[in-house]
Amino acid sequence: MESTLKRTWAEIDLDALEHNYRTLRAHVGENVKFLGVVKADAYGHGAIPYSRLLEELGADYLAVSSLDEAMELRANEIHLPILILGYTPADQVGNLIDLHVTQAVTTPEAAKAYSAEAVRHGGTLKVHMKLDTGMSRVGFLCQGDHFAQAVADVTEACRLPGFDVEGVFTHFAVSDEPDKPESVEYTRHQLDLFRRTFEAVEANWGRKFAIHHCSNTGATALWPEAWMDMIRPGLLQYGCGEFAGQLGLKPVMTLKTTVSIIKNYDPGTTVSYGRTFKADRPIRMGVVPYGYADGFFRSLSNRCRMMTDYGPAPQCGRICMDMCMIDLTDLPEVKEGDEVEIFGNRISVNEVAALANTISYEITCAVSKRVPRVFIRHGKVVDRELMLRF
Ligand SMILES: *Cc1c(COP(=O)(O)O)cnc(C)c1O
Repeated sequence: MESTLKRTWAEIDLDALEHNYRTLRAHVGENVKFLGVVKADAYGHGAIPYSRLLEELGADYLAVSSLDEAMELRANEIHLPILILGYTPADQVGNLIDLHVTQAVTTPEAAKAYSAEAVRHGGTLKVHMKLDTGMSRVGFLCQGDHFAQAVADVTEACRLPGFDVEGVFTHFAVSDEPDKPESVEYTRHQLDLFRRTFEAVEANWGRKFAIHHCSNTGATALWPEAWMDMIRPGLLQYGCGEFAGQLGLKPVMTLKTTVSIIKNYDPGTTVSYGRTFKADRPIRMGVVPYGYADGFFRSLSNRCRMMTDYGPAPQCGRICMDMCMIDLTDLPEVKEGDEVEIFGNRISVNEVAALANTISYEITCAVSKRVPRVFIRHGKVVDRELMLRF
């Protein structure tokens, strides 16, 4: 099993995660709870070791996108409250109750169906009401003429039997765009609408939600008035994105590969499928076992670089399924077997994302199951997650 670790692997620095968690806690202050979004296998970082660490550090809540993701955490003895942000079929309410998982309620119909199932199951389902204040995805629609209906519907949902109504939340569309005045205005509008809606519901219902939350990464970084009772960051915890650096957070994932073969080619030689790269001098080309099946973006062919111990090596030729080539002509010290960083500590994931014309979320989520995750704590390997299941 050891051998697979020396192909291409992702080092997950749990010390960096601890640092990021503590930094974010200090940033928002003691009275704000911390919900860590660990959906999509913690954005590709490995949800189980990370959630375990968050629990150990004293986080308050976790969030995932589906019941399967929640079940995986419970099966691995994670006891923190878990909120499912997305869709769960009503016939799974019994499972939610048995596993002590909190469900987002996003429509009047879902509210009724969940309530009926909870009553049938003879239990109480913990719920958070989801308000749509302008993301136009899921949630009770609150904007404009829908306001009064939303207040009536959410109040009615709060009064349904079989519910333990704990929270209310919304999600921002552009809270991470401080340089665009219309985005700042839109976020302010969403925030005001969120507050007005839950206040009207609370007045009708005669009770208050225990947890009001709306701060994703952008709002956690930039909008203190949105922190309310709990922040709900995803990306920021992993030290990715433009705000991570500004807040002094550290990248958690470093993706590494190995120089497997080095070959010398004559001028005029073409490299890889499509012959998109042609040597204009004698070149020394390294093959690294990292391709699009590992999560690399083929669109980065001939456009990115990887970091060797002696400096950056340009990637040359089409990126293949299982490998690609890097130009080592100007790095004569690099030898077969050397480690190469794809992104992480020395090449920021933001740089790779910008080159691929996407966001860092997509880059870390794309690191495929074939790439083992190696978890490091206090400088030592403490856990491994391999694709191979024997
Ligand atoms: C994914 C998600 C988050 C986290 O978003 P980031 O931008 O990664 O901080 C928060 N809330 C909801 C509802 C989400 O779906």
